[in-house]
Amino acid sequence: MDSYNTGNPIGLGPRKRHSKNKFLRKLSILFTLLLLSVGGFIAYQYIKPKQQLATVTVTTLGQVPVANMEKSRVDQWNGVTKKVAYLTFEDGPSALTTDILNELAQQQIKATFFFIGSNIDAQPTLVKDAATAGHYIGLHSETHDYETLYKKKQYVKEMLSVQKKINQLTGHSPLLTRPPYGSSPGISKTIANDVASANLRVWDWSIDSMDWYYKDSAKEVAKTVIDRAEDPFEIILLHEQPQTLRALPAIVAGLKKKGYQFSIYDEDFHIPFNFVQQSNL
Ligand SMILES: [Zn+2]
Repeated sequence: MDSYNTGNPIGLGPRKRHSKNKFLRKLSILFTLLLLSVGGFIAYQYIKPKQQLATVTVTTLGQVPVANMEKSRVDQWNGVTKKVAYLTFEDGPSALTTDILNELAQQQIKATFFFIGSNIDAQPTLVKDAATAGHYIGLHSETHDYETLYKKKQYVKEMLSVQKKINQLTGHSPLLTRPPYGSSPGISKTIANDVASANLRVWDWSIDSMDWYYKDSAKEVAKTVIDRAEDPFEIILLHEQPQTLRALPAIVAGLKKKGYQFSIYDEDFHIPFNFVQQSNL
């Protein structure tokens, strides 16, 4: 006899329904547990990287990790290595500064300029022009003289003098110096300590454009820079010279083709890069 059609309307039905409910309840508990564990795992993934990225508070430049001179700073961006080139122009301001600024504006690129004190005195408005255009203005001494800067240890004194001049023109006191002739062998441990105490920094270069050598060939200057650019981080030494100005469009095009972006020196993210390998510079 079919239990459903007997006097017992309950029959097996309710029991079946009962066990079905129990099963559903168990299933929903399992499902909730599963959701909780998946949710927890996802939340952990969000929290975990933050813990790993916790930064160490750096109070002195000496604590900043030393950049390896092999230029191995690699930034990944969407899985692609980010390559950054810093164009650095020495020895201005000069008769060519305006043309260089115009060319950079044309190319929509910012650069870093290292100005000499006596040249600032001669053409102060060019300092303002460069700063207004968004370029970084760095310090390149008063005399540009090896003997005076390194043997007579006038490096810091001269850089601070230039810093003051730039501050009067732009309202900013730059911290970055470019040692005339490079930091090695001129910057001794003593000078390095003086530089650090004065809260100044030093940047040499990773690529010499050889524009001082190829005076008559913009083509060779451009070729030198483009051929030598290999690493994710390149600081390119340039001078305010006619051959350099003429080489500029080719340099920019060639570096872009190699995947470089252009950047200016950033005081908030100083990367020590000096030939004397002093971590406090
Ligand atoms: Zn120079």
